[in-house]
Amino acid sequence: MSFVPSSARGGDHAPATSGVVSYRLARQRLVDAFARGARTTEELCDAQPELRRVAHSFGRSVAEPCPICDSDDLVTVSYAFGPGLPKSGRVLTNLKEMRNLATRGKPSTCYLVEVCRQCWWNHLRESYGVPG
Ligand SMILES: [Zn+2]
Repeated sequence: MSFVPSSARGGDHAPATSGVVSYRLARQRLVDAFARGARTTEELCDAQPELRRVAHSFGRSVAEPCPICDSDDLVTVSYAFGPGLPKSGRVLTNLKEMRNLATRGKPSTCYLVEVCRQCWWNHLRESYGVPG
């Protein structure tokens, strides 16, 4: 199964068309629910196989611990969606690929997803539109 924005937790929100949309509040609500015992790791730590693969190969370390298991193996991965891009999104692995998005002449939407490589917690961090 390929990645789509809605496969990452929090991805059922409308994508950004301009500016940056932060998913920090939705994320915090889940983390609080976990702390209260209202959510389990089975519910929250369910990164799909493709997201796990991308997190292993291209994840960029985040200077904060996993909110669920407290490990320091929390990473972010970036995906771009839009006309002319693969239906399952393009994984952006470096700055050059991000710059290329902005000059390809077509709009796209980028999603930054955080993934814990220990417990497989995953959540959208932000999305933003790239005019192209
Ligand atoms: Zn974790």
